[in-house]
Amino acid sequence: MRGFGMKEVGKTAWLEKEKPVAGPLDAILRPIAVAPCSSDTHILHGGGGRRENLILGHEAVGEIVEAGDLVKDFKPGDIAIVPATTPNWLAPGSQSGKCNAHDEGARKSFKFLSVKDGVFAEYFHVNQADANLAHLPDDVSAEAALMVVDMMSTGFHGVELAGVEFGDTVVVIGIGPVGLMSVAGARLKGAGRIIVVGTRPNCVRIAREYGATDVISYKEGDIVSQVMKMTGRGSDRTIIAGGNKDTFAQAVAMTRETGVIANVNFFDARDNLTMSSLEWGLGMANKDIRGGFCPGGRLRMEKLLKLIQYGRIDPTLIISHRFNGFDKIEDAFNLMDRKEPDLIKPVVLIDPPYDRR
Ligand code: NAP
Ligand code: ZN
Repeated sequence: MRGFGMKEVGKTAWLEKEKPVAGPLDAILRPIAVAPCSSDTHILHGGGGRRENLILGHEAVGEIVEAGDLVKDFKPGDIAIVPATTPNWLAPGSQSGKCNAHDEGARKSFKFLSVKDGVFAEYFHVNQADANLAHLPDDVSAEAALMVVDMMSTGFHGVELAGVEFGDTVVVIGIGPVGLMSVAGARLKGAGRIIVVGTRPNCVRIAREYGATDVISYKEGDIVSQVMKMTGRGSDRTIIAGGNKDTFAQAVAMTRETGVIANVNFFDARDNLTMSSLEWGLGMANKDIRGGFCPGGRLRMEKLLKLIQYGRIDPTLIISHRFNGFDKIEDAFNLMDRKEPDLIKPVVLIDPPYDRR
């Protein structure tokens, strides 16, 4: 089979691979809609270490072409949404009741791009299909469901980590697709004021549609003093969904005592994250610092899909570019890699008739 990926760090290529085989609990799918992600480009450029002959992609909606003998709820022909993280549910880490992204170690539930090929292929493998896949509901489009598998799950995880409560003042640093989902999630959780940090005009416009009340630019002065000037004592919750190593200290500094700093940003492995003790209230200001990875699994997907089904959110606002056909994966990926100013999230509809709305 063919797949689009990387020959080595920094070098993309179409690769020829063996079609994957399903174990008794697993499924093989063919993609009907996929989306490139900034995490794919991080991996291409070496952010995950050395990788060779690897098919990229971890955001997909697909058709089941083969289901293992022990799979009960999915059969060939079913359309399923595939979470970016597909935990091994037999591992204690995914049974802890905490974030299921860490089944056999930190972030180990992220199987695509780490232990196996990704979804930019004619066929791809999903472990433990009954526990990881979710049926695509009739009233949800494939492209809306595609925004659930990573963007919504991660952006909303930022909101969960932050513990947003009614009336809170929330700062969301970064309004790419992940941060935009955090803005929408913060509003759903009852935030009062939502201050966002970002500059791209289309992201700013969509942030306002999702509920941002104020917008500040990191290009126009220190964001900590901007937030302090607007709020007096700082935010109740600060969600980091973009930025660089300095963003961490800024987030801690702009959060008031008893507040929470929640990170879903992918920091560079070569960086040290530092802050002055003063910014952390000399360690005595009861400021919580949390960080987490995209939760996966079937229940997570089904619950997030309900928010679309019942009109609570339209995640398709973050889709800025649409491509049609399998061969267009390369163009969509290159667009993501170049990060052009009008780009938010590209999607590739491989089989347009499946997008039923
Ligand atoms: P993105 O499209 O690159 O957006 C980044 C945002 O950060 C933009 O709004 C950008 O502003 C803003 N920004 C850039 N530099 C900044 C600075 N110095 N200070 C403040 N804001 C700054 O990224 P994305 O696709 O939304 O992803 C966000 C992060 O989440 C990435 O690191 C990604 O790898 C990570 N991620 C994590 C998970 C997880 O499970 N934890 C899952 C998926 C992705 P402009 O408007 O000026 O561009
Ligand atoms: Zn992703």
